[in-house]
Amino acid sequence: MKKKQIAILGSTGSIGTQALEVIAEHPDLYEVYALTANNRVELLIKQALKFQPEVVVIANESKYTQLKEALENQPIKVYAGAEALAQVVEAQPIDIVLTAMVGYAGLKPTISAIRARKTIALANKETLVVAGKLINELAQQYKTPILPVDSEHSAVFQCLAGEIGNPIEKVILTASGGPFRTCTLEQLAYVTKTEALKHPNWEMGAKITIDSASMMNKGFEVIEAKWLFGVQPQQIEVVVHPQSVIHSMVQFEDGAIKAQLGMPDMRLPIQYAFSYPDRIQSSFERLDFTKCTDLTFEQPDTKRFRNLALAYEALHQAGNMPCIVNAANEVVVAAFLHDEVGFLEMSDIIEKTMNKVAYIEHPTYDDYVATDAEARRVAQLLI
Ligand code: NDP
Ligand code: MG
Repeated sequence: MKKKQIAILGSTGSIGTQALEVIAEHPDLYEVYALTANNRVELLIKQALKFQPEVVVIANESKYTQLKEALENQPIKVYAGAEALAQVVEAQPIDIVLTAMVGYAGLKPTISAIRARKTIALANKETLVVAGKLINELAQQYKTPILPVDSEHSAVFQCLAGEIGNPIEKVILTASGGPFRTCTLEQLAYVTKTEALKHPNWEMGAKITIDSASMMNKGFEVIEAKWLFGVQPQQIEVVVHPQSVIHSMVQFEDGAIKAQLGMPDMRLPIQYAFSYPDRIQSSFERLDFTKCTDLTFEQPDTKRFRNLALAYEALHQAGNMPCIVNAANEVVVAAFLHDEVGFLEMSDIIEKTMNKVAYIEHPTYDDYVATDAEARRVAQLLI
């Protein structure tokens, strides 16, 4: 059988490195075609030497010489810059593009990959938050499958296997609640980035870890679910489940609920996106029910975690509003990580940015680019 050729955008990140572990476990099934990163050039070099891809791309052009020199004696093509990154996904042999880079920067290469008819294993949820309608239209036009990697959406996707033609009544996304689940509003005003970066159940990149603490991540996942599963906002429910054992659920017309359970380990949803529709063997730790005697559920509190309400609001307003929220969020999260804004101020700035940037009901790709730039400018001024 021909090995699937995989391009990993963001190979040096949390998802990227775990995807390489999956590939290393199945050298008979998968081969790395392309690896890309932004700054961590040393790790990219190590990965390239180990996995021998055809191509590597470093988005940050100032790191090109270092990368090029280190791989001089290797049969590996080396490129730099955002343009190269968007082009590399089009290479003919690639079967699957794993979008594991963080933020709005994922939009352009994802669009190129869809146009080149590559199966998308989508981790970069920001792409669907910013431009879900456009992405869905392109995926339909080019008949490109988009397979979820986000654990909740992979869970829903797994629950939907064998349910073709059976309408979804409700998608129930579980949320851990993050490190501040039990904090009062007064306490939230003073939480630090070090506390926010300590997620109780998952090891992830810094940006998504802050998004999880503020519950913007869950808000984005609601938007992501709308575009992936074609459900209306009122059909998407969030339930806080601190143990992160149930990864999400689907309720059908007859009231039956299917759930997907397992250890919190992103390698499983990554592997499922690679192997779909098959399941393949894995060495990942198994869930032991005798050790999870206490599965609990709570309603999310949108008064303390206003970002979740702002994301629902953006979803209702549609148009370029989710793009505005995403851009403002990227700016405030970076500022929070630099101790320039407080935890609760992040929501204030996002809300003000939503009210200040011009609303566009039917945005084009160029409108998204302009909206992203304008929302970043406005949010930055508010800081
Ligand atoms: P990380 O911050 O750990 O990694 C991000 C990757 O993207 C790195 O390889 C980084 O390169 C690269 N990158 C960052 N900025 C750019 C840019 N401007 N251009 C090109 N490459 C860039 O993030 P995660 O792996 O945690 O998350 C990746 C995506 O997956 C996010 O969209 C996140 O929401 C989503 N996701 C992550 C989960 C997780 O468990 N981590 C779970 C579900 C979804 P470098 O290392 O060189 O800086
Ligand atoms: Mg998730």
